[in-house]
Amino acid sequence: MSFSQRLVRDVFQPLILWQAGDYGQIRWLREFERTQYLSAEGLRRLQTERLRALLRHAWEQCPFYRARMEAANFPPERFHELEDLHQLPLVEKKDIQNHRDDMVARTWPRRDLLPNQTGGSTGTPISFYLSHERHLSRAAATIRHNRWAGWDVGDRLAVLWGAPQDTPRQDWRARLRQALLGRPLWLDTAHVTEARLHDFHRALHEHRPRIVQAYARSLLLFAQFLEAQRLRAYRPQSIVISAEGLEPHERALIERVFGCPLFNRYGCREVSVIASECSAHEGLHTMAEGLYVEIVVDGRPARPGERGSILITDLLNLAMPLIRYRIGDVGSWAEGVCACGRALPRLRSLEGRVTDFVVGADGRLVSGVFLATYVVAQRPSLGQVQIEQHRTGEVLYRIRPGRDFNHEEDLAYLKKTSRQYLGEALGVQVELVEEIPAEASGKFLFSRSTIAPAYLR
Ligand SMILES: [Zn+2]
Repeated sequence: MSFSQRLVRDVFQPLILWQAGDYGQIRWLREFERTQYLSAEGLRRLQTERLRALLRHAWEQCPFYRARMEAANFPPERFHELEDLHQLPLVEKKDIQNHRDDMVARTWPRRDLLPNQTGGSTGTPISFYLSHERHLSRAAATIRHNRWAGWDVGDRLAVLWGAPQDTPRQDWRARLRQALLGRPLWLDTAHVTEARLHDFHRALHEHRPRIVQAYARSLLLFAQFLEAQRLRAYRPQSIVISAEGLEPHERALIERVFGCPLFNRYGCREVSVIASECSAHEGLHTMAEGLYVEIVVDGRPARPGERGSILITDLLNLAMPLIRYRIGDVGSWAEGVCACGRALPRLRSLEGRVTDFVVGADGRLVSGVFLATYVVAQRPSLGQVQIEQHRTGEVLYRIRPGRDFNHEEDLAYLKKTSRQYLGEALGVQVELVEEIPAEASGKFLFSRSTIAPAYLR
């Protein structure tokens, strides 16, 4: 790290935070740097204490949780260990939409309710509140997880992502921060064209960012583009990618093209960073000091390796508690201990959103990423494809045909291979289109199913 960067990290950044009343972020960061090396038992104790305090607080302060805890005959004094939490029902996105104000702590100072909201990419946008303190601990958690990938405050950054959702605060502090930390180089993945990929490629060589942050599938597209054009890719120190499903050979392709390690990151707007890969690259450690993560199948805890629905309890947002929030993603736990020495529990993989899964004619469940890889990518003439599903055993393929598209042969192939993976009785419909737009978030969804499989609940 250069001297000027150390100056930014150790002097200017703390000074700006202190000026803004945000110095607590540094306190949280110091704490998280220490607690990441607690033993499994120590972490469990920390989580149990925080969960106990949260349940008592929710019981006393939040009408929504009070009613639920009473209905479940689960007052806070019946909580003894983490597993007891199973006695409470899940919180769905629609619960937040319908009962948000009853989830807010009654006597919490109004000026300390920072409004926030999710984008519409999941179809259920929700708005919620964070306390200022939680805002700070979330920022600290992100920096800790960035550091696992060798990314520190002040590092040059390039981003392949949707357009920024937030309009940054343009006061003098924001401007100073931007001047000191630099603006990231940005490729807006909502509007990717070949010309823009060329420009971005050139800009990377010029700007020389240390870190690249990207949507996994957008980065894959960029890697494929560079390879096809025989362009020499810029090599950053490391790449942090969103934990969307990537097949092992796709990940290998990205690593080969960019010649640097990839670090998976899983997070969301509601609770910020949930889990990240460490340098051992064997699963994603959860942000366990701030979040209690569960994976459930049919309402019971999933066994290691078994995929299920992810539930999150935010242990540090007392302004508006989220307890057993079903985030809509599917994942599984890793087994054993990590070589890096951290006992923070690890997710083995993220398998995508519940809505990414397509339900076959016989009820079997196949992930959209699998179909993208083994059905669509095997046949380049198909061009760009999106799957939509609204009824079990039926799929709609939306196709923007490739250059060598052959109507009869390509559609026959599509039907045949789809039935191979989704059942012989599968109904296949096709719609040819001029363009498949990305989501408002900039993310390109390969598949979207409105049939949430019951067993993932
Ligand atoms: Zn590790």
